[in-house]
This record gives sequence, C-alpha cells and structure tokens, in this order.
Amino acid sequence: MLGEFEEMFNEMMNKISLQANDTFSKISFTQQPINEVPTYSNIVKSKSMVVIKPKDAEQTNSKTKLDIMRNIDPIDLKLGVSQVKQIKDGGILIGCDNPEGAKNFKKIANEKLSTDYKISDVRKFLPKIRIVGLVENYSSDDILKFLRGQNSVLSDVTHLRVLKTWATRKNPNVFQALIELDAGAYGLVMDLGKLFVNFDACSVFDATDVRICFRCSGFNHIQSNCSLKITCPKCTGEHPLNKCTSSTLKCINCNNANLADTSHAVWDAAKCPIYKKKLNNLKSSIFVTK
Ligand SMILES: [Zn+2]
Ligand SMILES: [Zn+2]
Ligand SMILES: [Zn+2]
Repeated sequence: MLGEFEEMFNEMMNKISLQANDTFSKISFTQQPINEVPTYSNIVKSKSMVVIKPKDAEQTNSKTKLDIMRNIDPIDLKLGVSQVKQIKDGGILIGCDNPEGAKNFKKIANEKLSTDYKISDVRKFLPKIRIVGLVENYSSDDILKFLRGQNSVLSDVTHLRVLKTWATRKNPNVFQALIELDAGAYGLVMDLGKLFVNFDACSVFDATDVRICFRCSGFNHIQSNCSLKITCPKCTGEHPLNKCTSSTLKCINCNNANLADTSHAVWDAAKCPIYKKKLNNLKSSIFVTK
C-alpha cells in the first residue's frame, strides 16, 4: 500500500518538475535581449514609502528599527522593501518596490506598532503630462471619461486629474489638457506617446515641473504663500513679473550662485542649470531609475 502511494507521489513529482522545466525554457526563450532600448515603463517605477515615527520623539532610530525588525518580516510577507532610511525624531522611512508592498507594510505596521508609533505615507509627488490635439474644449469630466474609457493603460489608474485645459497657440480651435497621474501610469503613457480622446489620437508630452515662485524667484512654493522680497524672475528687478519692462534677461538664481551665464529667465529649463538640476532631483525622487 505504502509502495503504491510512494510510486504515485514520485510520478506526481516528476510531472511537476517536467512542467517546471517547460515553463523555465519558455521563460528563457521569450526573455528580452539585454541591450534593448529601455522603455519609460521599465525605467520609471512608482516609489512607495511609509514613515514609522515613535510617539516619543526622544527615542533613537535604532530602537525604532529594532521594533520594526522584531515585528515585521519583509521576506516572509513579500513586501519588496528596497530602501530603509533614518529620518528625524527617531523615525524610519521604508521604501517598497511596489505600491502593494507599501500598502501591506502599512497595514501590518498599524496592527503591530500603532501603540508606540505613528505610521504614515510619504506625500507622493505626482508627475504631469500635457495632452495636445483635443478638437473641442471638453469639460474635465468628459476628458476623464474619454481617457479611462478609450485607453486601456488608464482604465484603472488610481490617480488621474485634469488640472487645466486651454487652446493651443497655433490654433485656437485645438485644445490641450494638463493632467496629473500616478507615476506607474505616467511611464506607460510616455511609452505610448499618444492617448485617445474621443476619436482623436492626441500627442502626449511630459509636463512634470518644479514649482517656481513668481514673486521671489525661489522654488517649491507659489507666490500666494510667499512673503519674501519681490525679485523679478525675468530680470532680477524689484518689481513683479507683470510690471517687467526689461528687455535683458537675468536669472537671480544663477546670479546668486556666481555662475557665468545669467542671461535667461528663472523658469527656462533649457538654459538655467539650477532649475534643470531641481527638475532632475525631483524626477529622481519620484522615479527609480535603473
Ligand atoms: Zn517666493
Ligand atoms: Zn523684470
Ligand atoms: Zn539660471
């Protein structure tokens, strides 16, 4: 009886390993060549981060880390942890490879650590795209309906928002829309280069940007929240941009950094090395580049 069982068992194991081999050979055949041109979607990944901070701000980072390690097993739970960083007030930042991992991490941390710790998501910066070639000035709701309904890459994206729509400079009857979306969907869309809005294939451009304050010419805030000295972003004069009459461009940020070439506006990403660097830093903070 036992012999028969053993035979059956062995036969089953053989089948499984044959199937496994078969699957394995299929995988290696369909594998992409190593030096293929990288696509946006495989160089751009959404980085999901969770912050664990002790309620007692005097607590050390190592104690926090130890408590996390004692309570959460990242391998067992397949969380895809790719980054662990110490932050202020005894906090630890955990970066996960995928949003699902971060979500699970947060759930388990809440279950096991919430008595002594505050668990929160890192506010995620969202990339933007500009869609050009809309033949009508559609409402935001209509644009969202068309985008989700006619483009499979966007059918179930979690974050998709129309920030504004306006006419193109070339043709007042053709419109464009500024859209904010998830980093993951952004990568897929940038690979496609086109999105359907109603019956029109519209071109897609990257529109991710760093905020520039048009009052003080500084970064990462807007003029309505600014009380710093007025500095024209076009000429460095002590007047608001809309009062600027200067025909000579001068960038205050490059000037303050003693750079040789200051003859551009603060917002000119092609010419201003400081703005360009801010933009690159921002993009590498949202995207994981291989
Ligand atoms: Zn400002
Ligand atoms: Zn000016
Ligand atoms: Zn500059």
